[in-house]
Amino acid sequence: MDRKAGSETAGDAFSPVEKVIIVGGGTSGWMCAAAIARIVPPSVSVTLVESEDIGTIGVGEATIPTLMEFNDFLGLKEDDVLRQSQGTFKLGIDFVDWLRKGESYFHPFGSYGRDTPEFAFHQLWLRLKVLSAKGQAPPDAAGTISDYNLCTIAALDDRFSPPQGGSDAILATMRHAYHIDSRLYSQVLRRYAEQKGVRRIEGMVISVEQDTEDGRIRSVTLRDDHVLEGDLFIDCSGFKSLLIEGAMESDFIDWSQYLPCDRALAVPTAGTGSPPPFTQATADAAGWRWRIPLQHRTGNGHVYSSAFMDRDTAHRNLIEGVEGEPLADCLPLRFRTGHRRAFWKKNCIAIGLAGGFIEPLESTSIHLAQMGVQRLVNLWPGRGLNVSEIAHYNRLMTADYERTRDFIVLHYNATERDDTAFWRYVRNMAIPDTLAAKLDMFRFSGRIVPSPEDLFTAHSWLAVMLGQGIEPKNYDALVDRVPADALIRNMRLLKNAIAKTAATLPSHQSYIDRHCSAT
Ligand code: FAD
Repeated sequence: MDRKAGSETAGDAFSPVEKVIIVGGGTSGWMCAAAIARIVPPSVSVTLVESEDIGTIGVGEATIPTLMEFNDFLGLKEDDVLRQSQGTFKLGIDFVDWLRKGESYFHPFGSYGRDTPEFAFHQLWLRLKVLSAKGQAPPDAAGTISDYNLCTIAALDDRFSPPQGGSDAILATMRHAYHIDSRLYSQVLRRYAEQKGVRRIEGMVISVEQDTEDGRIRSVTLRDDHVLEGDLFIDCSGFKSLLIEGAMESDFIDWSQYLPCDRALAVPTAGTGSPPPFTQATADAAGWRWRIPLQHRTGNGHVYSSAFMDRDTAHRNLIEGVEGEPLADCLPLRFRTGHRRAFWKKNCIAIGLAGGFIEPLESTSIHLAQMGVQRLVNLWPGRGLNVSEIAHYNRLMTADYERTRDFIVLHYNATERDDTAFWRYVRNMAIPDTLAAKLDMFRFSGRIVPSPEDLFTAHSWLAVMLGQGIEPKNYDALVDRVPADALIRNMRLLKNAIAKTAATLPSHQSYIDRHCSAT
């Protein structure tokens, strides 16, 4: 039935939110607690219930640069957060064996060269390559696209600096994220939230009570019969999806046809030398292995598809690939790729793994939880719940997940590997139309036009498309306006200036020692 704008509906009838119950105390739960505590008036009570018997997932150590915005929002200082979470800096991801075995490429966070209002920088580079191919520029004039990215050169030479200088400075093109011990990071958030009045209850939720008329959640009951009543319930219960699936019956949109990995094994090892400022993702026979360097240890894992590899083989490949002594037994994990059709239903919102999961190849999960929290803050239901606001939230979150999915699918689909059944499957599988259109445009003109919802910048798409061997047939015709000799000269100057700047940066370890060492 149609309704008039602004008219009341059953969805608008709930009273303003005064009691918030968060179920789950993993990274997502504490992110929610901290952010909500930061914005709500003292009259709003926030309670987080978590169960030590169940524990948290225990992985989730690589992040993307947006986490910095979240920490800034809370007023947490970078050096303090890294010191307390034994963190290191991350300038990007080193992808090994993804296009072909024995080859690697780097996906950096910072930009390539400098875009102009008329065209993207890489269009100049594409043209220079064409000039070289025609003998109108020296054969090595263009170099590789990585020559124009400070983050890549610094990372692979084990150097680090945060961005510095005005927008013209080469150092201003640095962009970083973190590797963090997720358990320690949650504790940072917990301390912050508790100082702001969040109440933590240790207990296990065993039942959820709903209003018989409108279906909203009224309370959750703990194993010790403690009943927690609330106006708004945030489901951060991880893969259990206790409230959003169990009570609200929001169904799951499954993307395993695009992303067939559904298992992981994780193992920490002792660090071996100074930590590199990047994550490494090495393609394996039916998935990939990660290496995440922290100050006090290295996180390792193997994400694989159970349809193509058994657990013993996955375990063997992981252990054979790690450097350093294992510090614990391998932790086995199962997951499903996809998301809830409704992240927010009535007075229940699922954030983090409870809302959906896309495998960790580009370290996007904590970011997606962050988006869930940030959007909730932006649409805080201080005047009650409104169906249009809820629909808006669900639309935005769905778009976030879909765009992230496309970016991850790109890594698998654009491979030349055909050495195992897994790689033959992902190479030949049908891909989402949105991704197919992006690839078509890039192949035709080298253009990358990110959707407004895109989490990853055009520079990220460029890094992975080129890294995965996709070559544009043409470059943007407007670039021909730049005189060839000026192009050759300026590109050489830029390349040299970036290399020189990289060589002046401190080593990653010495930067940590000076700013955020945990010891
Ligand atoms: P969890 O950590 O599972 O927390 C769930 C909470 O709910 C726990 O506190 C638990 O005790 C509580 N709970 C559950 N049931 C009940 C109950 N009945 N009663 C009371 N409490 C309950 N993300 C990244 O951003 N980067 C990465 O590098 C990365 N790597 C990953 C690798 C793998 C293999 C996997 C599977 C995930 C990875 N992630 C990564 C995702 C990341 O781990 C999660 O996004 C993050 O840890 C947040 O998890 P969560 O808080 O949603 O769930």
